[in-house]
Amino acid sequence: MAKRDYYEVLGISKTATEDEIKKAYRSLAKKYHPDVSKDPNATEKFKEIQEAYEVISDVNKRAQYDQFGHEAPNLGGGAGFGGFGSFDDIINQMFGNFGGQRSRSASSARAGADLRTTITISFEEAAFGTEKAVNVTKYDTCETCNGLGAESKADIQACPRCHGTGKITTTQSTLFGAFQTQTTCPNCQGTGKIIKNKCKTCGGEGRVRKTSKINVKIPSGIEEGQGLRLSGYGEAGYNGGINGDLYIYVKVKPHEIFIRDGLDIIMEMPITFSQAALGADIEVPTIYGDVIFKVPSGTQTGTKFRLANKGIKNSRSGRLGHQYIICNIITPTKLTNEQKEIFKQLSKTAEATDSVFDKIKKFFSKK
Ligand SMILES: [Zn+2]
Ligand SMILES: [Zn+2]
Repeated sequence: MAKRDYYEVLGISKTATEDEIKKAYRSLAKKYHPDVSKDPNATEKFKEIQEAYEVISDVNKRAQYDQFGHEAPNLGGGAGFGGFGSFDDIINQMFGNFGGQRSRSASSARAGADLRTTITISFEEAAFGTEKAVNVTKYDTCETCNGLGAESKADIQACPRCHGTGKITTTQSTLFGAFQTQTTCPNCQGTGKIIKNKCKTCGGEGRVRKTSKINVKIPSGIEEGQGLRLSGYGEAGYNGGINGDLYIYVKVKPHEIFIRDGLDIIMEMPITFSQAALGADIEVPTIYGDVIFKVPSGTQTGTKFRLANKGIKNSRSGRLGHQYIICNIITPTKLTNEQKEIFKQLSKTAEATDSVFDKIKKFFSKK
């Protein structure tokens, strides 16, 4: 399912203030928190709301999101959003009431590490989007045991020391009453499990290091330095922990004639003296193929023309750029006597007259 826009999720405008964001989140959290909501999709909705809030309420993440959308690196959202606190936790957290803090259970599950890699693509691939395969060497879920770490399910037994809880509770009696403290069980390192026969492929770790090929969809309009985040394509987690993410940084090879400026394309177009003076239909390369452009008569060198909608389309925003051509007039270096005569006449007239232009036209059409 396509991810909804975070602003849409929160029902706020892109210019919403900090207060408006908080207000929207508070009323949505009240409505959809699974502890209180009767909506059958409350959990999903609430996760979506929470993820949107975590990004939009953070100045840095919001700026990233505004620029790159869901593909922005370092949003920390997506697959990274596992569970969430109770309704009270959230309300307390937001409104500074820390009186009702609960002790969070220490979990032995650990998320896999995030990974980073770089992809180099051509100018055209950046313009039109592409699909690229990258090889990533990382810890992946062991296929022999499916991440179990054991030969079979029967080999996994509850830790006898902590009775499968992963925690050991000790009670201390003091003058002020009895205090309970919890520590991670040293026998099972908090997993609550003991493996009798470890998987031979991964040695009980549930993951193995290997190189895998990952197909990456690169959206059209991507620019050098922008990143893509592939949720869950980082290293496999331990003990049922979530996978890390894979961040892909995009490098774009420079083009021979096109220069990119956001979604616009700029190119220098050499034209002859006669084309500039008399006007001409010239063939201009664009990323969509050659187009005919009418150079108006009397064009000066350095004049910039716009080819509307011949720029790059951003697949996300739907915005389409333009192509700009900067005319560069090539001054003739070797002149025949006939040509010299024409230019002499031309220089005598402060403003070039039609008759001079006619002569030039006749001369160039003879060739
Ligand atoms: Zn294994
Ligand atoms: Zn234990």
